[in-house]
Amino acid sequence: RGKRAFIAGIADDNGYGWAIAKSLAAAGAEILIGTWVPALNIFETSLKRGKFDESRVLPDGSLMNITKVYALDAVYDNLEDVPEDVKTNKRYAGASNWTVQEVAESVRNDFGSIDILVHSLANGPEVSKPLLETSRNGYLAAMSASSYSFVSLLKHFVPIMNPGGASISLTYIASERIIPGYGGGMSSAKSALQSDTRVLAFEAGRRHKIRVNTISAGPLGSRAAKAIGFIDMMIDYSLANAPLQKELLADEVGNAAAFLASPLASAITGTVLYVDNGLHAMGVGV
Ligand code: NAD
Repeated sequence: RGKRAFIAGIADDNGYGWAIAKSLAAAGAEILIGTWVPALNIFETSLKRGKFDESRVLPDGSLMNITKVYALDAVYDNLEDVPEDVKTNKRYAGASNWTVQEVAESVRNDFGSIDILVHSLANGPEVSKPLLETSRNGYLAAMSASSYSFVSLLKHFVPIMNPGGASISLTYIASERIIPGYGGGMSSAKSALQSDTRVLAFEAGRRHKIRVNTISAGPLGSRAAKAIGFIDMMIDYSLANAPLQKELLADEVGNAAAFLASPLASAITGTVLYVDNGLHAMGVGV
């Protein structure tokens, strides 16, 4: 039987989540997607109208098939967590069952189990503020959307993940080195995500035989990255300074994710894999 993947954090065809979905689909996996509630309508409409068809083409010429798109907001674990103003917000009222627990239940009812869980989402409302100017609420919101969201997804999906399964998240070098401009507690959130990758690899490995890894990706001009504001500078910096002086393609991150999710990586867990043209290894720009 082919593998089944749930990829949280796709709302267009520009980001890492989309590229990971394509690489997994090319390797024969069935694709389920979790899309942020406020972005769901436009994503599904664009998908239906064929707006993404060009980007759906796989190496063998066929189109990536997305079996189902689920509404998801990964900052809420269950209905009791959802504040009244969100429940009644018109961008949320049209969708249902979008808390993490409900999505995992829906996937179990629809398909029984999955093999691969991908977390490709982050959010930091104060990302453009230096850490010194970040509010407590902004910092905690970054941690909730970008770090705990992974703990919560794994916690709720692990019971329906087949033994031998794998989970993958996306991190950024700002967790380990100073990257001015990646503020609002987002650097802190990525540090937590990387630390949690190790602890969760132990817990999910021992209890469920599930592997947990994270990919530290180089800069990509995704929707989320453009919102931060400094992405073009980061791409130029990488081109000028990385060991491999070429554009970093989202597909290269997708392919690394497909490897990590596959039996080829059956002894790899608890790791941070750098897919960044080698930029992380430089100590100084040249
Ligand atoms: P993206 O915009 O394609 O993906 C981010 C997604 O997160 C969006 O689809 C957004 O709708 C979703 N999202 C935000 N809040 C959410 C929530 N509460 N619940 C559910 N979904 C939510 O951008 P991307 O850059 O491809 O980001 C994917 C991952 O890659 C993120 O973890 C990001 O930090 C990481 N990353 C990106 C870069 C880069 O340069 N683009 C570099 C390293 C790591």
